[in-house]
Amino acid sequence: MQTSFTIAQLADPEIGAANAILRKCVHCGFCTATCPTYVLLGDELDGPRGRIYLIKDMLETGKPATAKVVKHIDRCLSCLSCVTTCPASVDYMHLVDRGRAYIDRTFARPLADRLLRRLLAMVLPSPALFRLALFGAAFARPLRRLLPGRLGAMLALAPASVGGPSAVDRPQVFAAEGKRLKRVSMLNGCAQQVLRSEINEATVRLLRRHGCEVVIAEGHGCCGALVHHMGKEHEAHAQAKANIEAWEKVAAAGGLDAIVINASGCGTMVKDYGWMLRNDPAWAERAKRIAGLTKDITEVMMDLNLNVHPARGLPVVTYHSACSMRHGQKLVEQPKALLRKAGFEVREPNEAHLCCGSAGTYNILQPAIAERLRARKIENLKRAGGDVIATGNIGCLVQIAGGFKAGEGPAVVHTVELLDWATGGPKPAGLN
Ligand code: SF4
Ligand code: SF4
Repeated sequence: MQTSFTIAQLADPEIGAANAILRKCVHCGFCTATCPTYVLLGDELDGPRGRIYLIKDMLETGKPATAKVVKHIDRCLSCLSCVTTCPASVDYMHLVDRGRAYIDRTFARPLADRLLRRLLAMVLPSPALFRLALFGAAFARPLRRLLPGRLGAMLALAPASVGGPSAVDRPQVFAAEGKRLKRVSMLNGCAQQVLRSEINEATVRLLRRHGCEVVIAEGHGCCGALVHHMGKEHEAHAQAKANIEAWEKVAAAGGLDAIVINASGCGTMVKDYGWMLRNDPAWAERAKRIAGLTKDITEVMMDLNLNVHPARGLPVVTYHSACSMRHGQKLVEQPKALLRKAGFEVREPNEAHLCCGSAGTYNILQPAIAERLRARKIENLKRAGGDVIATGNIGCLVQIAGGFKAGEGPAVVHTVELLDWATGGPKPAGLN
């Protein structure tokens, strides 16, 4: 694609990077066929190629973002299906990140939109505030069908009840069972530990049982993805730096073989810290080192020998591949291979490449599109016909579980809960 940035514009390393990405696009449009929003809405501007043109024009003119550009970029899920499809390896992920940061700086959103985004950016990364908000939401939940748009969507996503903090989510060190093979640090996430504390508990058990010492680092927190996808660069960088410092301390205190992440949305983010902070001389190398140590829990377990307890009558698993796992980290086969090794029959739904509509805060900010994507996903999952649905990302887990009527449909669990069960842990709560 031809671009026309001025020399002065290209002196900005962020514009230079965007220019290099744009120039790789050959306008072929292959990406549109696998873009969930294009598939649903059929508008060129709601597909990757159209969005690429919008971002190019916006950055080249250097003028404030327009409402039209914002509408179509806001509708992008950042699912990265287009990145998997693109034959020219166009780095759409970093281009849309640039577009979002530019929009955040130059576009005055309506007050209600601004307030909602501010609220989400403040509450979701803080487990204490999020837990408090969910307690409040549990009371208002019966009204969810009466409230319009985003308010109703928020309440519908809130669980009927919320538990207290789990003992695993405090800073501490869990010794390996038997001979220590690895020393790892687990990101215990922000929203996940509130919404489904069993996932971190299962992860710690699974790792310890397979010879890992597990450190929950003092001072680490949200990976930064939630604010990053809203274009709030400074906040995302601050959260990334806090995590880097926390993990560096763990490494200095006794070595660190891996940073283990059990929410693929967070994994995609932390693996990208090197790129995020590449222009910050004080942080670039440190961020690269931490990103290089980061692994999804399934990558770590592929390195260890899964010690399966043979069992009969295991449920058939329908595996939902989260976009951040499949397109963001290119981990397609590993989770399924582990589940099969653990003794489960694994099925996959049709249209596995299409997003379920969760996408961080997307199901709150774009509830109508998210609902249509979820309905499509649920139909495909039902057709696959498994007894239980497994996925490796909390956002998808909540989104898919919410697509079935209460008491109907299969349980939706994290892959790690099934691996923990098959290797000696308790049966996941939803399966009892
Ligand atoms: S990231 Fe997903 S929604 Fe956004 S343009 Fe690419 S395929 Fe479409
Ligand atoms: S598939 Fe790649 S090269 Fe083709 S239009 Fe999409 S982004 Fe551009």
